[in-house]
Amino acid sequence: MDCIFCKIVKGEIPSTKVYENDRVLAFKDIHPQAPVHIIVIPKEHIPDAEHINSENASILADIFLAIKEIAKLTGVNESGYRIINNCGKAAGQTVFHLHFHLLGGKSMSDSMV
Ligand code: AMP
Ligand code: ZN
Repeated sequence: MDCIFCKIVKGEIPSTKVYENDRVLAFKDIHPQAPVHIIVIPKEHIPDAEHINSENASILADIFLAIKEIAKLTGVNESGYRIINNCGKAAGQTVFHLHFHLLGGKSMSDSMV
C-alpha cells in the first residue's frame, strides 16, 4: 500500500520519533506549524476518522493516552496544547492514514478555521 505513514511505521522512510508503543507511533511533523508539532498515529492503517468503528475504536484511547505522555515529554503539558484531526479533503487532510496533530509551545489563534 502506498501510504507514507505506513512506510514510517515500517521504517521504510525516516522520521524523528518522539514516542512509540505497540499500537501508537509519534514523530515530528516535517513542516512544523508551532514550536512543538507532533504527528500521532495508530500503527494500524485507518484512513481517517470516518473509518473509526466499534471494532477499532479502542485505538483512540491508546492515542489519547500517548498524547498525554508526549505532551509531558515535549514540555507542553502545563502550558497547554491543541489536538487537531483533519478528516477528509475539505478539512485539509493530505495524508490518508488517521493522525492527530499535537501543537504547542506558543499561544494559539482563537480561530478554529
Ligand atoms: P494533514 O494535512 O492533516 O493530512 O497532515 C499531514 C501532515 O503530515 C502535514 O502537517 C505534513 O507536514 C506531515 N507530513 C507529511 N509527510 C511527512 C513525513 N514524511 N514526516 C513527517 N511529517 C509529514
Ligand atoms: Zn497507512
